[in-house]
Amino acid sequence: MKITEIHIYAHDLPVKNGPYTMANAKVWALDTTLVQIVTDKGLTGWGETCPVGPTYQPHHALGARAALAEMAPGLIGAALHPVALRRRMDSLLNGHRYAKAAIDIAAHDLIGKAWGVRVADLLGGAVTENVPSYYATGVGAPDEIARIAAEKLAEGYPRLQVKIGGRPVEEDIAVLRKVWEVIGGKGMRLAADGNRGLPTRDALRLSRECPDIPFVMEQPCNTIEEIAAIRGQVRHGIYIDESGEDLATVVRAAGQGLCDGFGMKVTRIGGLQQMAAFRDICEARTLPHTCDDAWGGDIIAAACTHIGATVAPRLNEGVWLAAPYIEGNYDRTGVNIRGGHIRLPEGPGLGVVPEDGIFGAPVASFG
Ligand SMILES: [Mg+2]
Repeated sequence: MKITEIHIYAHDLPVKNGPYTMANAKVWALDTTLVQIVTDKGLTGWGETCPVGPTYQPHHALGARAALAEMAPGLIGAALHPVALRRRMDSLLNGHRYAKAAIDIAAHDLIGKAWGVRVADLLGGAVTENVPSYYATGVGAPDEIARIAAEKLAEGYPRLQVKIGGRPVEEDIAVLRKVWEVIGGKGMRLAADGNRGLPTRDALRLSRECPDIPFVMEQPCNTIEEIAAIRGQVRHGIYIDESGEDLATVVRAAGQGLCDGFGMKVTRIGGLQQMAAFRDICEARTLPHTCDDAWGGDIIAAACTHIGATVAPRLNEGVWLAAPYIEGNYDRTGVNIRGGHIRLPEGPGLGVVPEDGIFGAPVASFG
């Protein structure tokens, strides 16, 4: 099965009750990029990549589309084998894994459709049909975040992530205390996500002043070097998210014991093929991790859920979806969270088939 056509679409995803606030960004709406691949067997597959604005990572929507346009002519005629396809993309463009991920996701969708199996089965096999999710609050005031925590606990989420950073650390400490009053002892795990926003001074203080609250600190500081500097001084587990840019960095962080787990994004690491390798590295070192993406619609949501369904349950920190925060689905059912868990789409492939014409005319077509 070979690629005969590649179509690229741009699509707006408005944020419900925006903006969504993180330490370094406010998000009002997202500009997502869809990739449609057509093959010589007449099958169509879909991929997606959606940076959370231009400051969350060194990724942006127009960059994704430019990278896809750069590679697309060289991908016409390519066979749909994920490893060979990744090497071919690397021979056409250095870096830009978040754009390559859209092609990789579409390839998995197509292979699943051709074989009549789900993407989760291509990735090693689902261990659950009901994939745990987690809810991420924005940066907010103690009472408001505690109210959300109570609501998400009642809905059945097994894990809560509270965004912190970008303000005096006393406010973050107050939020975590208030949240723990609500969820402590009730079985809900807690993460405090700094999104690179804390000076090491504040990360140290946060940990030292909350020794009784068993949260993990996710990407508290901007760089791996800053995280390594505080690593031996904090009382809490540390997860790496934004700095986990590629497998080489993951191997370094795991090998040098720089973290206790990861928040991982399917598009940042380069797609599902690289994500499966990441999952296996984590399992080899008993490192819990998430299977997320930086926002996006139902194609991204399905990709995250399929890989999330294959993670060893004791290491699965959940699949975060943008679905609760954005408007609209790509097909009649979409990929949605019920009771803090996500039903694995049935497939074949990703199990999401966008309605005809939903993304309008392609912004570029090749083949
Ligand atoms: Mg994070």
